[in-house]
Amino acid sequence: MIIDSHTHYGFGSPWGNFSPEFIIEVIGDSVDYAICSNLEGIDSIYPKSELDCNLDIIRIAKKYNKLLPLAVCQVDKSLDNHVMKFLLTEYPQFIGLKFHPECEKLSATSPKYNKYLNLAREFKKPCLFHSGHIKSRFSSPKIIYEKAKEFPDVPIILGHLSTGPKESHIEAIKIMLESIENEDATLYCDTSWIDLETGDLEDVIMLIESLKNTSKGDYTNRILWASDAPIGGFNQSNELYRKNLDNFKVKINSYFDDEQLVNKLLYFNARDLYGL
Ligand SMILES: [Zn+2]
Repeated sequence: MIIDSHTHYGFGSPWGNFSPEFIIEVIGDSVDYAICSNLEGIDSIYPKSELDCNLDIIRIAKKYNKLLPLAVCQVDKSLDNHVMKFLLTEYPQFIGLKFHPECEKLSATSPKYNKYLNLAREFKKPCLFHSGHIKSRFSSPKIIYEKAKEFPDVPIILGHLSTGPKESHIEAIKIMLESIENEDATLYCDTSWIDLETGDLEDVIMLIESLKNTSKGDYTNRILWASDAPIGGFNQSNELYRKNLDNFKVKINSYFDDEQLVNKLLYFNARDLYGL
């Protein structure tokens, strides 16, 4: 079994037009489930309201049951959390919440996020944050950690670990270790975009190695394999998608010689986190 923990569909995004059928075609038979959110509620020239973009993905997920929906949160646009509360109450199939501080140009430390994180706590939903460059004033892992500390019992996923270069990854790993050491936040991360230019998985290996050997023991359960498909040229066909997935399996298995670990990263960690 394999779960891709970070995927999308949606028309009019700066990265392209992606129909639901296209993401289904890209993932093909390679994975069993893809955790998905609608870009039309995040960044699109055809923007949809929080209500409409999320009702849309409920309809799509009913048609394609491989897609497990995340509810997109428009933190800056909404005055209160009534729409999200309605969505989470009426549609328990939402497995978590999705935040994009970079697209909203709203720092993850803003108190405006609290109304949503309170819902995440109430409905027991993990929260996937886009996590940007370590220098980003909206979505650096450090900034997200600050907010995560206010909600230590809510699992917060650093999407892409951090989108910056190696220095950003090193810093994001340090932050994860600090949160584990101090037990003051529940941080997860996903592996989308890390090392995709080189394919050597050097930084992914550094991440796994660090979380495997924390002062509190093995915390590799905090790492989720993900692609961010269909965003990125390397995610635009099933052939390329499968190639990256196979590369991940082969490189991680040959480095750690631990099939159980690979299965955790590809499936069990996401299953346990989202209670699937
Ligand atoms: Zn995303």
